[in-house]
Amino acid sequence: MQALVYHGPNRKQWESKPDPKLEHPSDAIVQIDTATICGTDLHILKGDVPTCAEGRTLGHEAVGTVVETGDAVANVRQGDRVLVSCISACGRCGYCRQGMYSQCQSGGGWILGHLVDGTQAELARIPFADNSLYKVPEGLSDEQVLFLSDILPTGFEVGVLNGNVRPGDVVAVVGAGPVGLAAMMTARLYGPSRVVAIDKADSRLEKARSEFGADVTVNSDTQDPAEVVMGLSDGLGADVAIEAVGIPETFELCTELVRPGGRVANVGVHGHPATLHLERLWIRNITITTGLVDTRSTPTLLRLVAEGRLDPRPFATHRFGQGEILDAYGVFADAARTNALKVVLTRS
Ligand code: NAD
Ligand code: ZN
Repeated sequence: MQALVYHGPNRKQWESKPDPKLEHPSDAIVQIDTATICGTDLHILKGDVPTCAEGRTLGHEAVGTVVETGDAVANVRQGDRVLVSCISACGRCGYCRQGMYSQCQSGGGWILGHLVDGTQAELARIPFADNSLYKVPEGLSDEQVLFLSDILPTGFEVGVLNGNVRPGDVVAVVGAGPVGLAAMMTARLYGPSRVVAIDKADSRLEKARSEFGADVTVNSDTQDPAEVVMGLSDGLGADVAIEAVGIPETFELCTELVRPGGRVANVGVHGHPATLHLERLWIRNITITTGLVDTRSTPTLLRLVAEGRLDPRPFATHRFGQGEILDAYGVFADAARTNALKVVLTRS
């Protein structure tokens, strides 16, 4: 088969590799019909994820067709159309039994395209298939469900649910990339009074307003986000501030935007320490949450898409054949110029 293989920082190749085989009774082999690229894949390619070894097939998002299952797999069988979750889960350890699949203690968690070969390939071996694959509801296209592998559950769980968004809330989302946009889209499910999108790229703010449910947009290069948010909240601040960039500056901004008693939900992956201004915050009854996505909300999100309550298709901005993946990486990595949100790779 062909696969996108990581060969160390800044080196990747679409190349031939042996077909994956079942290794454990709980594995399934999935033919990848549609895949996409994540910002995390770009982090790996920069060398920011040293736990990802050279020779690894990248990718942790896909929709595919089951071609083979191990003896212990009961929930899916050959021919099923499935969504591949970015998180693999044994389903049995203490964390899995609480639905905290990201912290699976039996070799699950974020392993696909990281610690085991991933989904940017013609075929992939999916460990713990019973708990890591979801049957695609009848009538839904691959593109309608593809973004439920990662960005939608991430924005929803780590942003909206951890931030405990409530009806009437003012919700400020810092970062209008795919993950921040997913947080805006799913925050709307809770009837907030205002969703405020904050970014430095006008093209992303424009998308936030026209397609992802932001009511107000702020370009933090030209406007003061705190002034705008205070103006919308009687001078108090946002009920929930969601950090979806992953740099110290934006985390610290979230702690300035939040009202006393409010919640800061950090979603961004940070590579550097951020300052926690406890000298100002200690008196303000603020809750700060962090998290890796668990994907425990995937069944809920699938139902919302099937019922037409959530439409993830606007995330797809560019489409390629599977074999054009190097071009797709080029477009995705140059989002400032190409306006890419998510690129869709389809099996020819
Ligand atoms: P992205 O890079 O596509 O988007 C980030 C956005 O932030 C861009 O639109 C950019 O213009 C904006 N930005 C950059 N600097 C800014 C600043 N100083 N002020 C305001 N806006 C600024 O990333 P993404 O794919 O949307 O992911 C967002 C973050 O979420 C990343 O850190 C990613 O690694 C992380 N993530 C976390 C999880 C999790 O489980 N916690 C899962 C997936 C991704
Ligand atoms: Zn587990």
